[in-house]
Amino acid sequence: MRGPIVAVDVGGTKIAAALVGANGDVWQERRVATPEQGLQPLLEHLLRIIDELRALVPAPVRAIGLAVPGVVDAATGTVLMAANLPWRDTPLADIVALHTGLPTVVGNDADGAALAEVWYGSAGASRSVVCLTIGTGVGGGLVIERQLVRGRQRSGFEVGHMIVDPAGPVCRCGSRGCLEVLAAGPAIARRMRAHAGGDWTSEQVIAAARAGDTLASRVLDETAAHLAVAIVNIWRLLAPDVIVLGGGVAAAEDLLLDPLRRHVAKLSPGRAVPPAALRLSTLHRGASVLAAAALVLDAYDQDREALPIAMGGTDTGNLLGSSR
Ligand SMILES: [Zn+2]
Repeated sequence: MRGPIVAVDVGGTKIAAALVGANGDVWQERRVATPEQGLQPLLEHLLRIIDELRALVPAPVRAIGLAVPGVVDAATGTVLMAANLPWRDTPLADIVALHTGLPTVVGNDADGAALAEVWYGSAGASRSVVCLTIGTGVGGGLVIERQLVRGRQRSGFEVGHMIVDPAGPVCRCGSRGCLEVLAAGPAIARRMRAHAGGDWTSEQVIAAARAGDTLASRVLDETAAHLAVAIVNIWRLLAPDVIVLGGGVAAAEDLLLDPLRRHVAKLSPGRAVPPAALRLSTLHRGASVLAAAALVLDAYDQDREALPIAMGGTDTGNLLGSSR
């Protein structure tokens, strides 16, 4: 397939959209707040963004990809339900395809994130990848032998609700001690409030740890300890080539990765997870739109071995599809 993809990540609070070239170059990225007034304004907003991006390139856009935080029927592109979005059984792919006349793929954002690691990111040479996106919640995507594994009832790979401490706090899903309620951004903020008082965001905790605040470092260490339980269990179940950490919390980089590797080694001394198998996503900027673009590649491009893995090119030739 040639020509750029219009890729849109539709979140509950913001929409990110961009043109994505053949090598994963992200162009004309825009981020806007998600309209709050309901289904019709949201759809009109999305179609307007797609039309604007299409008008910016001389080359024909080859397809539209949309990543949503919800349950999607991958065969039809119907959004069955989505977190914080007014979609119930909404035939989103049909609506967008009818408006644009272009092939349209709609999928779960965490599935897209795992595919993006394989198509564009650090997991390029790997056949089996687990991707954990740690932000406001914890999303998970699973690719085995380069095939996306969709979870039971198409709800995705629900690793965020893996129980890592049955005596832990109650999660929004009703269980206690899910990975999400112990390791996502709000858990980091909550832990810091308990130690230091005051009001914190996870970004502020990470910045404080980077500036040498020992309490903030302790909070990241405690977070890493919970995350390590999930990592060791994932490793024992699946032994993927790589486990990739992405999302806002992964922006802590070594401040999280170093204690995480230490806790993983402590939990699993005999059957260690190779340090190189535990990585940070290299798709920082533009990762969310690359997830939407990767859903298109997964649906349409089967010749994965032939895909050139290259990052961050700025050659407009790539955008126009001349590199494939
Ligand atoms: Zn849960």
